[in-house]
Amino acid sequence: MGDTAAPTREVFANVAPWMQAVFFLLITASLAYSGWVLSCRVRVWRQGGSGEWERNPRVWLERLGREVLAQRRVRAAAPARRSGVVLHLLLFSGFLVLAVGTTLLFIADKGPVHFHRGAYFLAYELVMDLFGLALLAGCSLALYRRLVARPASLGHQPADLALLALLLAIGITGFVLEGLRLASDGTTEGVAQWSVVGHLVRGAAGELGVSGAVARAAHLGAWWVHVLLITALFALWPHTRLLHAVTGTLHILARPARAMGSLTTVSLDTVEKTGKFGLSVPADLNAVQRLSLDACMECGRCEDACPAHATGKPLSPKVLVQDLKRAVDRSLPSLHAPVIRAETLWACTTCQACVAACPVQIGHADLIVGLRRQLVGEGQLSGPPAQALRRLGSQGNPFGRPQRERLAWAEGLSVPTPAEEPDAEVLLWVGCAASFDPRAQKVARATVQLLQHAGVRFAVLGRAERCTGDPARRLGDDFTFQQLAGENALVLAEAVGARRRVVTPCPHCMNTLRHEYGEFGADLEVVHHSQFLAELVAAGRLPAANPEPGRTVTLHDPCYLARVNGETEATRRLLAATGAQLREMPRHGERTFCCGAGGGRMWFDEPPAQRVNRQRAAEAVATGAATLATGCPFCLNMMTDGVAGTPEGEALRVADVAELLLEATVVGSA
Ligand code: SF4
Ligand code: SF4
Repeated sequence: MGDTAAPTREVFANVAPWMQAVFFLLITASLAYSGWVLSCRVRVWRQGGSGEWERNPRVWLERLGREVLAQRRVRAAAPARRSGVVLHLLLFSGFLVLAVGTTLLFIADKGPVHFHRGAYFLAYELVMDLFGLALLAGCSLALYRRLVARPASLGHQPADLALLALLLAIGITGFVLEGLRLASDGTTEGVAQWSVVGHLVRGAAGELGVSGAVARAAHLGAWWVHVLLITALFALWPHTRLLHAVTGTLHILARPARAMGSLTTVSLDTVEKTGKFGLSVPADLNAVQRLSLDACMECGRCEDACPAHATGKPLSPKVLVQDLKRAVDRSLPSLHAPVIRAETLWACTTCQACVAACPVQIGHADLIVGLRRQLVGEGQLSGPPAQALRRLGSQGNPFGRPQRERLAWAEGLSVPTPAEEPDAEVLLWVGCAASFDPRAQKVARATVQLLQHAGVRFAVLGRAERCTGDPARRLGDDFTFQQLAGENALVLAEAVGARRRVVTPCPHCMNTLRHEYGEFGADLEVVHHSQFLAELVAAGRLPAANPEPGRTVTLHDPCYLARVNGETEATRRLLAATGAQLREMPRHGERTFCCGAGGGRMWFDEPPAQRVNRQRAAEAVATGAATLATGCPFCLNMMTDGVAGTPEGEALRVADVAELLLEATVVGSA
């Protein structure tokens, strides 16, 4: 009961000592049971063997603050998921504050210092009531979402409703308990009103004539109900979606700190010892991968972001994770068909939209490539993609063109090799698409003309350049990638010398050279051509002589530039330099939607209705812009085809940002 000098309350007021003993017994037993269930999961994770994981405690602390406590990924959800964000933040904050508050109450009651009094006590009562309300509001919204809104990508299990009902009941009985305590222990009005909800309940109880001995009996009854509900929650939470609060946090802390766009290297030794090229059976999933499967709460964000799923292909990253989890839990003999079919794995563009959307940071694309590696190793890839792999191995490019044609794109231009331009500021890495594809060749030409106009001394490798190996690695043929990376790294080491700066118009080349070549001895500073050109514009080396202020442009951000490497500004700065008015598509920047070419999908045949580029082109057409700009030779081709397939396509020109900048900068360019 509160006194006027130092308001406080007795924690177990009205509860006999034997009842308190039963309470602690129940809580201990329920926690022991949930601890045992959790230890069984830990055993399952550890059966996976050690893989790469983050071991630096400083990184754990950073991730704990930024990703777990500040809920960065949850808050960054797509606009269509805002209601889910609100309810998750309400539930998370309610849980966190009530858990911390209850722990503090226990310490104050059983510890040597009784600090649960005075101003602290009043603030405590207020804060606990407000966050109790947040928990109730979150539960109510979640129930509405599951029972009424029912978004298709959200996983539904009967236990979900039971959990929400249990949480609601705990919240409501908690407030009833508080109100009846206030009604029975004579707390003064000035103190009681800090317990805002309990105060209202006390008022209602008073209206009903509940006071004195009746209030005390009702309080005791409510206390038992509340205790039994809490006991059930403490025992059963690992069997519900609440498990992700622990597994998700552990996975966020433990996941390897590799760049989003890099993949692990397959070791020949391992293949020889195990006979396996990639993920084949549950035992091949390491401990962190197994933990990641347990962290999935089936929120469906990955599925909503996936271009393969959006175009009706047999791939949902959410279902893939659940299928892998089932294979681990049931110790199935294989991870592949009938568990995960080959068509599912080949449908992925490795665009990383699922990875970026996942609140618990599951690495779907790594898992998919790991599974693809086994299929490729077993010779289960056929048709044009298999032919592209063979060409990569034999001719150094996926188009099957002879190396002597590497400089065909530069006909009529002066493009020196490093030997001819020893003082080059930068090396221009052209990439296979811009070297051999007739449409993309114009991007290489535009880039070179801009460099020359700005007076940049540059060099190209010409016949010494081979494919970076990106398509081979993402298709699952890591040994072809390693062969190409090894050869290129040697050439690059000699060509770039101490300058280390490489410019490329291809985001896939940029990503691979930047993140995956270090392992092969190529320590490079690799920038996208839009980044380098934006530097030249900012330095006044490319003044706009021929801007087109009336031109409307929409921008397709390439996945491997914007999402995977976080570069969204340089392309926009170049468009601004041309004088164009930018009309953004709904999915832009890091939340861009794939063109459909990544992950080797460029070489797969698709029925028109399943083409990602068609869907993206329709989005671009809907902006009403006259030009669709992009910054990737693969996107350029895919979007050109996609736009041509739409009824309004003829009105929309597709161009690379370098081509648009050239037109605005160099009068009479071509
Ligand atoms: S990487 Fe892209 S295509 Fe592959 S599963 Fe994820 S979202 Fe889908
Ligand atoms: S994998 Fe991640 S984004 Fe996808 S459903 Fe599971 S938790 Fe959600």
